[in-house]
Amino acid sequence: MSAVIELTGAEKVYPGGVRALRGVDLRADAGELLAIVGPSGSGKSTMLHLIGTLDRPSAGTVRIAGYDVAELDDRELSALRARHIGFVFQRFHLAEGVPAVDNVADGVLYAGAGRRERRRLAVEALERVGLGHRLGHRPHELSGGERQRVAVARAVVGRPSLLLADEPTGNLDSASGAGVLALLRELNAAGTTVAIITHDPDVAAAAPRRVRLRDGAIVADERAGAAPVHEPAVTP
Ligand code: ADP
Repeated sequence: MSAVIELTGAEKVYPGGVRALRGVDLRADAGELLAIVGPSGSGKSTMLHLIGTLDRPSAGTVRIAGYDVAELDDRELSALRARHIGFVFQRFHLAEGVPAVDNVADGVLYAGAGRRERRRLAVEALERVGLGHRLGHRPHELSGGERQRVAVARAVVGRPSLLLADEPTGNLDSASGAGVLALLRELNAAGTTVAIITHDPDVAAAAPRRVRLRDGAIVADERAGAAPVHEPAVTP
């Protein structure tokens, strides 16, 4: 199995001295779906930013899709993100007044795709998320759940190997949240590695793996059906 995410001794100290991550080791293989949980301020977003190569660690190494982030300059990092990583946020981040198909087409970040090709890929991605009938709708004409589906379509239009979601159901009612969760699971079943920050117990419960942070450290790493890794072994 090849690691898509590999953090080794990853630390993050923000200017002002906040130690947001204190030596985190995390490996996720291709095809995994993991939920990142923990109280507010525990370092979840900081860890997702490092994984998404939006920020660099203060110490330790971050390897994504096999690339050591420290060895890449900013232009190379942008290319890595464009080719390998999709992002979904709690607040959708769609351009207002812009039809769904164009919002998604703007997610085709790699060079060389012309306007027509971008549009074709956008239509395909919207069909994948069940919104083939909403191509011309603008964000204000869509429900919250549909908006998040458009955001997911934009995140996956470039067929990234890794999809990162920060509270993707945080702004949705439970039925819409369940729909978005089902969609993320489908994408995962089709081969995309997915990491989701969540406070939503349903999302956490549905994830085959749960990584729990507290005070900048991983305090539990549990897999469904297996005993928590950090629980002491029972001796006979
Ligand atoms: P979570 O996502 O679990 O709520 P964060 O990763 O956002 O946690 O934050 C972890 C800690 O780092 C918190 O104490 C937060 O205040 C601090 N922090 C986050 N971002 C910054 C920043 N840009 N500058 C300074 N401190 C930050």
